Amino acid sequence: MQVFTSLLVLGIVFGVFIVTDLRSYKQRKENAMMSLAQVTSTNSISMIQFQDNEAAKEMLSGLQSVSPDIISSAITDSSGKIFAVSVRQGVDSFQIPQGLKDRKTAFINHHLYVRHDIIQNGRTLGTVYLVAGLADLREIKKMKYGIALTLLLLAIVVSFLIGFLIQSYISKRLLNLVATMKEVSKTNDYTRNIAGETGKDEIGTLIRVFNNLLQQVNENQKKKDEFIGIASHELRTPLTSIKGYVEMLHEMETKEPNKFLVQKAFDNVNKLEKLIKDLLDVSKIQRGQLELTMRDFNLGHLIDETIAAFQMVAPSHEIIRSYDLENTIVHGDRQRIEQVLTNLLSNAIKYSPEGKKVIVSSNQTNSEVMIKIRDFGYGVPEAEQSEIFERFYRTKNTSITISGFGLGLYICRDIISRHHGKIGVGIEDKGSTFYFTLPLKSLNASLN
Ligand code: ADP
Repeated sequence: MQVFTSLLVLGIVFGVFIVTDLRSYKQRKENAMMSLAQVTSTNSISMIQFQDNEAAKEMLSGLQSVSPDIISSAITDSSGKIFAVSVRQGVDSFQIPQGLKDRKTAFINHHLYVRHDIIQNGRTLGTVYLVAGLADLREIKKMKYGIALTLLLLAIVVSFLIGFLIQSYISKRLLNLVATMKEVSKTNDYTRNIAGETGKDEIGTLIRVFNNLLQQVNENQKKKDEFIGIASHELRTPLTSIKGYVEMLHEMETKEPNKFLVQKAFDNVNKLEKLIKDLLDVSKIQRGQLELTMRDFNLGHLIDETIAAFQMVAPSHEIIRSYDLENTIVHGDRQRIEQVLTNLLSNAIKYSPEGKKVIVSSNQTNSEVMIKIRDFGYGVPEAEQSEIFERFYRTKNTSITISGFGLGLYICRDIISRHHGKIGVGIEDKGSTFYFTLPLKSLNASLN
């Protein structure tokens, strides 16, 4: 748009410049011819008085050497009759043009016509007519139009070139900004920023504001993580002692309803303990301090044990074992893998209140083993499948009112990725299948 406007302005400027230039050329020409006509009329007074038209003719033909543009000239007497005339070779004859009757000069058909009365003592003795050709005006016009057109074309090329360079400079920065915004919203990595932006324009300001915003979010995030870390750490000690007392009470109490009430308190203390453990894990993950104790262990045995323990506390669902992992040895942190299994099994039961079974199965290739946990509950909408592994993410489905903090899957993802495995969820007709993979021993050992 700016390029177009500049070209329009340039075109108008050139137009005005050419018109005024040609006008001033005509004006100069007019003035020169008028002076010549005036001198001629003064000189011709005596010639008219003495009826010396030969001398007048000679004077007129001599004018062409003074001004080569003159193609014809004439002197008429007071009655308007031709007294003397001179025409350049190749010119037919001299005729007084109609348009010159009441004017002193006129531009007619590429010729300049000038008339000047011969006056003596207030008496008009005759008139001098000069006709000048304007061939050089045509040449000048041609040259000026040529220059203007060349400059205009040059201006078009230069402004398009500048426009193209500026455009690509602007769009490169904008595209970079958009890409970073998308990346940040996808990864929640607020430590990122757009480096090297020094532009003073609106885009430069936008980028700096965006960088500041990211910095603020990052600082707030750090403060929040610090708070979570400190708070969960401080809560753990009193909670451990509360849990001890409630456990003692639970063992000592034999009468109902007291035993039932103590049992309720015990269950809630366990929930609280799990939450605090998860918060501590999250804060360790954030600080990169979640330590793994790596060793070889039999994965089949671990899953057997975890299911057995689960089956005792969750009798509502039958956990079906559909795997053969008797000889599958993996290299990893047994406790952390158990934590992943517990989390996935607990979710499978928690989010399938109507379902009656959970199926645990496996797939094995030469390089990895995959564990799948299938439930027949609410399932996970496709749009949320990657989001549920984010910190504090809970489903947007408001009809699901099951309590939770959205930390379990985030911790699972970190544990599995630190074992060089993958974790994910697949859609089923009813319910969902969560899966994770672990590299098999030989591969995993070489990775660690
Ligand atoms: P929490 O269960 O405490 O909310 P998680 O991180 O374990 O935290 O799960 C995050 C979200 O993923 C849950 O809020 C739930 O919406 C969804 N989800 C997890 N497991 C399942 C499952 N088996 N079926 C349906 N939705 C699930």
